[in-house]
Amino acid sequence: KLRQNAASQFLFFEKPMTREIQEKIATEQELRRALEREEFVLYYQPQIQLDTGMVTGMEALIRWNHPEKGLISPYAFISVAEQTGMIIPINEWVIRMACQQTKQLLKDFPNLSVSVNLSPYEFENRRFVHKLVKLLEETGIPPHHLDLEITERMTMDTEKAIAILKRLKSIGVTISMDDFGTGYSSLSYLTALPIDRLKIDRSFVRNIHGKKEAILPAIIRLGHNIGVKVLAEGVETEEEVAYLKDKHCDEAQGYYFAPPLSYEELIVFLCEHHYKKLHVQERK
Ligand code: C2E
Ligand code: MG
Ligand code: MG
Ligand code: MG
Repeated sequence: KLRQNAASQFLFFEKPMTREIQEKIATEQELRRALEREEFVLYYQPQIQLDTGMVTGMEALIRWNHPEKGLISPYAFISVAEQTGMIIPINEWVIRMACQQTKQLLKDFPNLSVSVNLSPYEFENRRFVHKLVKLLEETGIPPHHLDLEITERMTMDTEKAIAILKRLKSIGVTISMDDFGTGYSSLSYLTALPIDRLKIDRSFVRNIHGKKEAILPAIIRLGHNIGVKVLAEGVETEEEVAYLKDKHCDEAQGYYFAPPLSYEELIVFLCEHHYKKLHVQERK
């Protein structure tokens, strides 16, 4: 009886498992092909300094421009890419492209900095630091124009994270803590991490059940107390902008200012923004 049960369980579980693995293998091959065929594209979301309205930089966000399915969100493929290791060559492509395109932009907008999202795999990969140095040399972008976004789960082993971050910072790049507030990082260790900026997760920017009132000003103060800049993610309304300015948040990013833009759209945004700024200054 028991045996029969075990067998039926086996039959029950085996099929979906193999199918899941097969799907993963298929997706891995598709991702590899996409990389070879240059089907990935970077979109850029501007980051705005709140007290001046200046664009300080932009976050590079990957999309897969699939020949049949159209533009595919990173949520649909980043996790498989991480599970299969394909994230390593994909993110190498992301960093190279982000640096190349930003290098071009620096000619007209010399203060811009580009942020890229790191994956846990490459963060812990010892060769990553060397690869980064090579990419910076190859693209010719000064290191302080590149910002690396990490997440709290990468810093769970604090001692290890501090060592990795120190090595990265020695190159000259800056570090931002992405989606801050959603992870499990120990607040007491936050002071020990050599980071430059906290990016407050958009769930704290939205006023759900008074969450904003209770948490947002506290995170901004926390950031300033430990000497880092604070950026609010997912800012969508004028009211949110006013609130963040009032609480002395340094920067913001979100649909209120711009959605993630294609490189061409980003150039238009930067020109218009720059022009508007000059115009306002002239009128003063
Ligand atoms: P993230 O790093 O937290 O990026 C912010 C996400 O919020 C982006 O989604 C962006 O489009 C979205 N967003 C921006 N402003 C607003 C807003 O005002 N309201 C709302 N509701 N959403 C907003 P996206 O581009 O779909 O990226 C999703 C996630 O995929 C990113 O979250 C990041 O974790 C990951 N990702 C994107 N590009 C890369 C990459 O090149 N490498 C790696 N490893 N991960 C990436
Ligand atoms: Mg990010
Ligand atoms: Mg984020
Ligand atoms: Mg977020």
